Amino acid sequence: MIRALFYKKKTGKLSFLKTSFWTFSIVSLAGVGYSGYSQYRLEQSKIELSQNHFVKYKVKWRKFVDEKHYLLEIEPLKPQKVNVWNQNGYRKLWSVEIKQPQIHVVRNYTPLPLTHVEDTSDEISLKVLDDDKIDNGKLMFYIKSYDNGEVARWLSKLPIGHEIEVRGPYIEYEFPEAPSDEVVLDRGFLNSSEETSLGNKSKYKSFDINFFSAGTGIVTPLQLMLTQDPFKGKIQIIHACKNYQKELAPLLPLLKKLENHDRLKMHYFENFRKELTNCRVLDKIAETPYPFHDLTTLNNGSTSLKPIFSLVVGPDGFIESVCGPKYELHQGPITGYLGQKGWNNNTVFKLS
Ligand SMILES: Cc1cc2nc3c(=O)[nH]c(=O)nc-3n(C[C@H](O)[C@H](O)[C@H](O)COP(=O)(O)OP(=O)(O)OC[C@H]3O[C@@H](n4cnc5c(N)ncnc54)[C@H](O)[C@@H]3O)c2cc1C
Repeated sequence: MIRALFYKKKTGKLSFLKTSFWTFSIVSLAGVGYSGYSQYRLEQSKIELSQNHFVKYKVKWRKFVDEKHYLLEIEPLKPQKVNVWNQNGYRKLWSVEIKQPQIHVVRNYTPLPLTHVEDTSDEISLKVLDDDKIDNGKLMFYIKSYDNGEVARWLSKLPIGHEIEVRGPYIEYEFPEAPSDEVVLDRGFLNSSEETSLGNKSKYKSFDINFFSAGTGIVTPLQLMLTQDPFKGKIQIIHACKNYQKELAPLLPLLKKLENHDRLKMHYFENFRKELTNCRVLDKIAETPYPFHDLTTLNNGSTSLKPIFSLVVGPDGFIESVCGPKYELHQGPITGYLGQKGWNNNTVFKLS
């Protein structure tokens, strides 16, 4: 039977034509199979969040906090396998880009490891994603919509279920890595309704930092504290906004719990411009930077807050008055309030 495929019927000799035909057919089939397999591999790789391509998500849930601010939860069409929270942890501050397809622009947004809790009341209730449960890769954002803005306004009106395209993560800042045997700080208390004890402490003496944030800029330090394997030191947030009780309402219980667990110290300023003119409170809380100590010094249990570094996040005008203007990708010199207090480019970082 197989002989008939390759040999001449009459002479019984190997047929050049038949052999060529079958060789060509087999090679073509293998080629088609390989290209199909490569295409499959490419499609598979496009499922995971990446800087190299956009991944499709859909709008899962959205709720306005006040007239301008809203929470937006999006879910990938195909569940993610990579735990991006675990990957970045306390080490990296990150954002993703969301595309507005009609005008071909992208804007960055800072995901939070939160999900909403379904309930019938009007109050928004949020829950921190449990360790290693990535909930298919859902992402939550806290966004401000601007009257003349393009993307945040567009996102605020999309119907539930609408597909959007996302790429990333983009690393905005990277902290030094703790020793490999450092403990992972517990954050179970964030989902507990009962008062729990202070939880575990870091093995090594960690460093504390200041965040000067304005408006939605508060999501950056929040990402660092809510993420799986959260920031090891204490964070002091000096936050400028119009009405923190209204704007931050659903986030306040989490901020309060972080304060009760000695991870965070919050200072709200509803008229930050005025505060900058007299610095009555600022001068008491934003002291000159404390010296950096070796990351392998054992934790001696000290509870006082000693910031060695300040990160500044918010609109251009806010950054300028706190620490001087940022020039695109260049940090520029440290001037403004922090400059006057002796902070410099080694101790301040201006975020976008
Ligand atoms: C790394 C990074 C992370 C970010 N994370 C978030 C986030 O989690 N949540 C969030 O809401 N935004 C975040 N932003 C800002 C966001 O990317 C957009 O700039 C913002 O949503 C406005 O875009 P828009 O297209 O709606 O408005 P645009 O069309 O860009 O601007 C419309 C108008 O609003 C003004 N405007 C734009 N942004 C600001 C601002 N921040 N303060 C004051 N005026 C402004 C513009 O000057 C203009 O007049 C982040 C930005 C960066 C770089």
